[in-house]
Amino acid sequence: MAEGRVYNFSAGPSMLPLEVLERAGAEITNWNGSGMSVMEMSHRSKAFLKIFEGTQEKLCRLMGIPEGYKILFLQGGASAQFSMVPLNLISKSGKADYAITGHFANVAYKEAKKYGTINIAATSEDKSHTYIPTQAELKLDPEASYFYYCANNTICGTEWQYVPETGSVPLVCDMSSDILSRPVDVSKFGIIFAGAQKNMAPAGLTVAIVKEELVGAELPITPLMMNYKTMIDKDSMYNTPPCWCIYILGLVLDWLDDLGGIPGMEAIKGKKAGMLYEVLDNSKLFHCPAQPGSRSDMNVVFRTESEELDEKFVKAATAAGFTNLKGHRNVGGMRASIYNAMPMEGVEKLCDFIRAFEKSN
Ligand SMILES: *Cc1c(COP(=O)(O)O)cnc(C)c1O
Repeated sequence: MAEGRVYNFSAGPSMLPLEVLERAGAEITNWNGSGMSVMEMSHRSKAFLKIFEGTQEKLCRLMGIPEGYKILFLQGGASAQFSMVPLNLISKSGKADYAITGHFANVAYKEAKKYGTINIAATSEDKSHTYIPTQAELKLDPEASYFYYCANNTICGTEWQYVPETGSVPLVCDMSSDILSRPVDVSKFGIIFAGAQKNMAPAGLTVAIVKEELVGAELPITPLMMNYKTMIDKDSMYNTPPCWCIYILGLVLDWLDDLGGIPGMEAIKGKKAGMLYEVLDNSKLFHCPAQPGSRSDMNVVFRTESEELDEKFVKAATAAGFTNLKGHRNVGGMRASIYNAMPMEGVEKLCDFIRAFEKSN
């Protein structure tokens, strides 16, 4: 860890790998002999196109994205996709299935209702979103234009441990907070999207991986900038793309490649999450509301029996160099977001801190 840096457990924007920050720092005034920063380049320049295509190529290779899919670099955050998905896909039957397993899935559901008939295929609201419904519990409509779910529920700390089987109904998945942390069979999906600020790059970039055969049937009211076809036809350059974020994503992907790609990262994140859950499960002071089998490896939500003690923990942790452990305002308690860039050492030290805090309280 570099001098003065803290272990930042923020849910997003979150830590970036130190190597990436240092390389970006070294290149900030003069990228690769171009005489300028990536922030100052024309997005249509040769130098930037090399960065852009390199980032696309690396993402395609690391995720194993097959033929027939397009990688889009968009703006508007994951939240813009909540509108873009129904605008582009719902015309097929006017209906769609949504699984509501947390805050962001619920926001997406409410947005989609403006554009069609939305069936709640599953909801975990009955138990405060502390679990993921099983395949058998999904109420699927075979006529749905698509099935929508959120792979990792950033606020509640739950994560789908299986990919839903929906027959010929295309899967649409919000992977904002667990993309690049575990292998994904992209061919099972119609659209995967992710806001970059959790596991990919700085805020300002949204990555969408779109099956090309699904586009071109957008509702007539679809704004030009929210039409996947506009962006596919112009290779994400209909207007100025988020150039700096795309460059940083390229550096993050180089870093990921050196760690063994996504299978390498899956092993690392499994170890980090396993370690933290073990300490919490063996604790008499702390507990995790998320049910075993549904727990997130990215956002570990935990709490004590008392709000005062939670507050004391967060304060003491901050003073010890573990920042942003306060839980989301909707759920309270604590949340340790341990995305890809959180070093193993950060989680080990947090585990030590939790044990020590328990002893003295
Ligand atoms: C953070 C987050 C969002 C919201 O992303 P924005 O880029 O801020 O719009 C949506 N879904 C999930 C799962 C998230 O973690």
